[in-house]
Amino acid sequence: VTADDRGPAPGLVQVAGVGLIDEDSRPTEDLNAYRSQVRAWLASRQPLPRSRGQRSFGERLARLRELQAILWAEGWARRGWPEEVGGVGGDARHRALLYDELALAGYPFGGVYEHVEILAPALLRHWSTEQMGRFLPRLLCGDDVWCQGFSEPDSGSDLSSMRTRATRDGEGYRLNGRKIWTSWAAYADRCVVLARTGPADERHRSLSAFFIDLDVPGVEVRALRQANGLDELAEVTFDDVLIPRDRLIGEEGTGWSVALDILSCERSAFAWLRQTKLYLAAERIAAAAGPSALDAVGDAVLDLFAVRTASARAVAQLGQGLFLGPEAAPVKLLLSTAEQAVYDAAQRVFGPDMVLGAMEDSADWQEEYLFSRIVTIYGGSRQMQLSTVARFLLGIASR
Ligand SMILES: Cc1cc2nc3c(=O)[nH]c(=O)nc-3n(C[C@H](O)[C@H](O)[C@H](O)COP(=O)(O)OP(=O)(O)OC[C@H]3O[C@@H](n4cnc5c(N)ncnc54)[C@H](O)[C@@H]3O)c2cc1C
Repeated sequence: VTADDRGPAPGLVQVAGVGLIDEDSRPTEDLNAYRSQVRAWLASRQPLPRSRGQRSFGERLARLRELQAILWAEGWARRGWPEEVGGVGGDARHRALLYDELALAGYPFGGVYEHVEILAPALLRHWSTEQMGRFLPRLLCGDDVWCQGFSEPDSGSDLSSMRTRATRDGEGYRLNGRKIWTSWAAYADRCVVLARTGPADERHRSLSAFFIDLDVPGVEVRALRQANGLDELAEVTFDDVLIPRDRLIGEEGTGWSVALDILSCERSAFAWLRQTKLYLAAERIAAAAGPSALDAVGDAVLDLFAVRTASARAVAQLGQGLFLGPEAAPVKLLLSTAEQAVYDAAQRVFGPDMVLGAMEDSADWQEEYLFSRIVTIYGGSRQMQLSTVARFLLGIASR
């Protein structure tokens, strides 16, 4: 569709970064109707690229990006985002419904949208309009993969003790330091990095957030292979890496509030995306369960109800532009409890067949089972979430 100088034809509206769109592309506020639309499109559009079956993380990611590109091109991934980033309006609730319906249609993908849901809402809050328009569409359409570089070898739970430092240099900064456990870094194009820009004894008050290209001189990424065989995690070193000034997120010294917003999304609204996949796993397990494993399946499903309810609330709040603070901690606790319960139930039901590789998709189940053992660590360990609940929600003072 092209515009002429008399303006768009009736029914078409101009959207920055997108061009002219049919007014009907804007997602309806009636969420039940919206769900039906997504479902109808999926029924008419299948098959979409699937990420199951590929054993390498890189191949899997490539398939997920194909799916993401289709969802963007056909408008579904534009719904739920503002016009400044190539979206057509709507909010986190519309995105959540898309993830739900994709999973129900047999695309238990999570995948690429994981970093979208963890990073993008927070960046929208801290970036200038120019920055968000320049960077975010590339993430949403699958052109870019991003990652999150917070943890360091000696600074995980105690994040504000980090030593990676960005020093002012002319118009920009020089970055030196080391990050670890950076999910997807081996495949990522860009990274949101937290670094110290002021005195170390100011701890979280002297941190700043940057948006870094990973293909520039001085960046080295070393993939780390996990127990489940995937090299999803990596170590990233920065040796005098030049960061242009326009890659600072927010103001110098406001990195902690950027980090808290990102962690809020990782601990709460992201849980919605994750549970869509866990429901499918639970369904498979329940279908195969004999009488002796029904209690384990029941426990897992109850845990899933809890995380679905809590994360739905988080999504609704995010839809109103509200980020959870300490209230995100219980959501993450519910998610990790549910994920472990689901795969504990899988082990009870599938037993030796899963462990010894006798099922057709044993490798997938083994991989997910092993991953479920570490879900109590990412986004802040279980003990740290419990401490947050005690201190900030229950008001129990720490000594
Ligand atoms: C799958 C996965 C993906 C990850 N992805 C990323 C990523 O993309 N980006 C990123 O920056 N990081 C990532 N991480 C790192 C993660 O955030 C850290 O591993 C986590 O915060 C814990 O830090 P640590 O490993 O240094 O452990 P430590 O902080 O050394 O903790 C070790 C143990 O001590 C306990 N502990 C520590 N301090 C306290 C305390 N004050 N009170 C009670 N108990 C305490 C912890 O609970 C834990 O059991 C990922 C981790 C995993 C497992």
